[in-house]
Amino acid sequence: MTSILQALSCADNYDPNSLHVDRARELILDLLSPVSGHERVFVRQALDRVLAEDVISPIDVPTHDNSAMDGWALRSCDLSASGETAGETRLKNIGTAFAGRAFEGKVGAGDTVRIMTGGVLPQGVDCVVVQEVVRVENDVVIIPPGQRSEQNIRRAGEDLKAGHPAVPAGKKLRPAEIGIIASLGVAELSVRRRVRVALFSTGDELCSIGTPLAPGAVYDSNRYTLWGMLTRLNCEVIDMGVVKDEPAALEAAFREAAGCADAIITSGGVSVGEADFIKQLMAQLGEVAFWKIAMKPGRPMAFGRIGKTQPDGAKGTNGPGAWLFGLPGNPVAVMVTFYQFVLPAILKLAGVDPVKPVPAFPARCTEAMKKGRGRTEFQRGILFQENGEWCVRPTGAQGSGVLRSMAEADCFIVLEHEREKVGAGDTVMVQLMNGLV
Ligand code: AMP
Ligand code: MG
Repeated sequence: MTSILQALSCADNYDPNSLHVDRARELILDLLSPVSGHERVFVRQALDRVLAEDVISPIDVPTHDNSAMDGWALRSCDLSASGETAGETRLKNIGTAFAGRAFEGKVGAGDTVRIMTGGVLPQGVDCVVVQEVVRVENDVVIIPPGQRSEQNIRRAGEDLKAGHPAVPAGKKLRPAEIGIIASLGVAELSVRRRVRVALFSTGDELCSIGTPLAPGAVYDSNRYTLWGMLTRLNCEVIDMGVVKDEPAALEAAFREAAGCADAIITSGGVSVGEADFIKQLMAQLGEVAFWKIAMKPGRPMAFGRIGKTQPDGAKGTNGPGAWLFGLPGNPVAVMVTFYQFVLPAILKLAGVDPVKPVPAFPARCTEAMKKGRGRTEFQRGILFQENGEWCVRPTGAQGSGVLRSMAEADCFIVLEHEREKVGAGDTVMVQLMNGLV
């Protein structure tokens, strides 16, 4: 593999001291490739997995010409002329076609068949008239003018032709895809193996839940939010607990993680001035770029790769090893950097193709907001509707340590890099949190 640092330093717009959010995401996505390894699973186990190979349809869908509506099936050549001379058509009711119970007879000149949605179209029939517009007098069925051939008909193979891909590789399987696959009668499919992510929190002040809080200590929450976000992404999570700010302990943790995971996520210890040996250590173990991203919250972040230790003890980034995401320690910064960088990275590793940006839409902001120049800000907001218009109100305190601001929020208010301050009533872009993972 070419050196990551080399690749990065050759990239356009690469300034590790002030990296644009979009550029950082691009750089990460360009370097990563999907994990190898497939598994055969039953269709229900495939929910939220990523399809490894196209699912080829073994059948035409629909399998037969059928009716899209409840109504009357007829031959369009029997209809009275249309246009100026348009008039009613009188046909003879000769039977019924239900879904799953076809009409076996022959539809001849002047005949019609009562047909239900999904009913197989009898031979020669090319038009279905919805029941609501039809009058029936004993055996005579009276069709109003204005009908056309092919209306309300679903032709065999119209949705999907046998032998063609029904769901492409790279799709993350949602209920809709699970349904399509089942509709083809396919019971088993090939999905990529789940991405293995090792995580640990760093910090001497961190205390695990279940132990009493010492003076000056804080409970480790990042491991829990990270676990939650990764679990939602269907990753295999390897929780390595809290690691003290000690070089030997950190080195051991990094080595263990790199030996078993596709990606390592750490929180804390990457901010300026803080225990610099973490940076040194990461750089010593692998190829790590330390980025100051032009964003708030979440400015400092480490990204790179830690190789598996070679037999001679030398470091290496070839072969197995793991991508490293050294996230900041502040709980909100952890979540923001996760959603902006780690989420697309995990999708790429998982084999999702294409990895699309998270959609955003405009909303009217009810309050004025300050905004720093030359950085992207992710404020937390609460969406509501007023007179049919979507509005957003920032949650209270926006400090990067105030996790409550995330819990109260249902969207990120994205204040773009170039944007200046926001006035009350201005339009801002919002990213829904619901559906992010
Ligand atoms: P650091 O990036 O290590 O300087 O941490 C920044 C802030 O985030 C400090 O106030 C830490 O106590 C806090 N913090 C770091 N890691 C965690 C964690 N795992 N859970 C909760 N807070 C944390
Ligand atoms: Mg720390």
